[in-house]
Amino acid sequence: MKLGLLGRTALGLVMIPPISDGQQITVRVADSVGLSTGTRDELRASITGILGQAGITVDFIDCLIGGAKTGAAGCGDPLGPSDFVLRIFPPRLAMNSRQLGYAALTAKGGAYATVFLDPTRRAERVAGLTDGTLLGHAAAHEIGHLLLGPNSHSRTGIMRPFFGPSDEIRMAQGHPLLFSGGEAKRMRAAIEARTLNQGHPPRNTLAALTNSGHLSPITGP
Ligand SMILES: [Zn+2]
Repeated sequence: MKLGLLGRTALGLVMIPPISDGQQITVRVADSVGLSTGTRDELRASITGILGQAGITVDFIDCLIGGAKTGAAGCGDPLGPSDFVLRIFPPRLAMNSRQLGYAALTAKGGAYATVFLDPTRRAERVAGLTDGTLLGHAAAHEIGHLLLGPNSHSRTGIMRPFFGPSDEIRMAQGHPLLFSGGEAKRMRAAIEARTLNQGHPPRNTLAALTNSGHLSPITGP
């Protein structure tokens, strides 16, 4: 009797998704700088919160920690249409000392968000803003570019081209910069389109990103 009841309950859950047009992505984290466990947790929480507000749920797989392979399941699999790679690099790989990140798509549809952690700039930040929260915002911004395209900056919210002191105060106080409703809708549609195209981004988006050379830098204040 109990099994039968459970079966009906499970079927009911499958038939009614919690968010009608919500989307899900997987982010493979490649940490080359050796983030602390606490910083990694904050990074994940920040990305989860910002993308969650946009109706996008995120699963994380830690594939590199401090540059060492974790051997986690899925890290060696080909990238699928809803798979993203988040690379955390030291500042010497950035184009300049103020660059926080950039986004790049490969011809096969691989989607890479890269962010830089520069410990020497910590003192310039608003007090209380942690590495994990700042990097989480930078990563969410770059994932935004991967879904919205290179010309997708806005005057407010997470797609601002620069994070200034007032933005940092918000982040530090636990009020993340967010995507607008319109941006969120376009991002969810882009994930759906990637899935339908089997990971190949629409031709115009790929061309724009490829031609832009240095892609969507965001910098510190
Ligand atoms: Zn940008």
